[in-house]
Amino acid sequence: MKNTNNNKVCSFCGRTEKETGFIIQGNGGAICLNCCKHIVNIIEEEEQKAKINDVNSLQIKTPKEIKNYLDQYVIGQEEAKKVLSVAVYNHYKRLKYYANNLESDSVELDKSNIIIVGQTGTGKTLLAKTIARMLNVPFCIADATVLTEAGYVGEDVENILTRLLQEADYNVEAAERGIVFIDEIDKIARKSDNPSITRDVSGEGVQQALLKLLEGTIVNVPPQGGRKHPEQKFIQINTRNILFISGGAFNGIERIITSRLKANAIGFTASEHRDEINRDNVLQYIKPQDLKTFGLIPELIGRFPVLTHLDELNREALRQILTEPKNSVIKQYEKLFEIDGIKLSFDTAALDCFVDIAMEYKLGARGLRGIIENVMTDLMFELPNTNGKQIKITKEFVITQFERDKEKFRDIA
Ligand code: ADP
Repeated sequence: MKNTNNNKVCSFCGRTEKETGFIIQGNGGAICLNCCKHIVNIIEEEEQKAKINDVNSLQIKTPKEIKNYLDQYVIGQEEAKKVLSVAVYNHYKRLKYYANNLESDSVELDKSNIIIVGQTGTGKTLLAKTIARMLNVPFCIADATVLTEAGYVGEDVENILTRLLQEADYNVEAAERGIVFIDEIDKIARKSDNPSITRDVSGEGVQQALLKLLEGTIVNVPPQGGRKHPEQKFIQINTRNILFISGGAFNGIERIITSRLKANAIGFTASEHRDEINRDNVLQYIKPQDLKTFGLIPELIGRFPVLTHLDELNREALRQILTEPKNSVIKQYEKLFEIDGIKLSFDTAALDCFVDIAMEYKLGARGLRGIIENVMTDLMFELPNTNGKQIKITKEFVITQFERDKEKFRDIA
């Protein structure tokens, strides 16, 4: 297209060559460089979408490969890593199966939603996040403590799917095969084992509402979340293929497990196993019925066929966590210093000292970072003005630095 001044005009945006810099003239039309770029972007986006939506192009990792990946970031927790690896592998297999077997008479493959029970700071969220990093399906973390039944103050359970949808860039098909991690599932337990006549806003009602999501139905999801946007149109999401992983500390469940084990031990069939019980780690004997006694409703437990536990982190595990994971806190600090051209290193005694402090103040793995942060603050402050090229952290340095602020940690303990 040409305008009256003989200047070429883009047939798409209507701008002149003067405005856009360059225009390609074709047979009966013209296009500017900006519009060309725009079109290329659209084509690439569409191709990408088609690829994401093509389930058969998903690369399935074997359970061993998944576990090897988890091993690089998560110390110990062998059973949970194995169980999760198998569950994620099966999740992918189901996706492919359903993409290729649409006939109604084909064998139903049930989902293996998972519950991970483990004390706070033992790696539940870390496991979920590590899996998310490895996967090429949308993933989100939801906090069960803020969930309430529809109509009450708080978040509706559907908002969990809003987050998943956002993670999937509003690609419904992709969201429909995502993975959701529901943290602190124990906080929506019924407050007592007896179903109460009065409604339990924070507990059983939420469990009932969650059931709907878990059982594989079509859910109306508010794309912006919440009730702040009453005008928004709902998006329908089928939860049949969404994998749900839940985590919770279930404080006090050890007592429930122990008393069940004791009760069983009285019956003569189990008496021969009585001596084999490891009292330091009773969580390993957890069974779905313990979750029921804790206050989860049987229907909900039934929707989580896989139950696994995390071990408490002992001294040795904490020591490994300091240095071994691919992005361990020590490696992170070494990198931070390296960026400033300084080689940072830690004496073995200094590393042991961090662990001693974490053990003494019962801060667990989560506390390790806080302790190190505290010890390193002054050094970090002076870092840009440092002349030297090497810094070695000794045990004495750790103790002196930590002593100044130790009350802060005592408060947490
Ligand atoms: P949880 O969700 O069980 O409360 P997190 O997964 O948030 O605990 O763990 C807190 C932090 O402690 C993690 O970010 C990680 O740095 C560290 N951590 C905990 N458990 C492990 C583990 N098994 N291996 C490596 N690091 C761990």
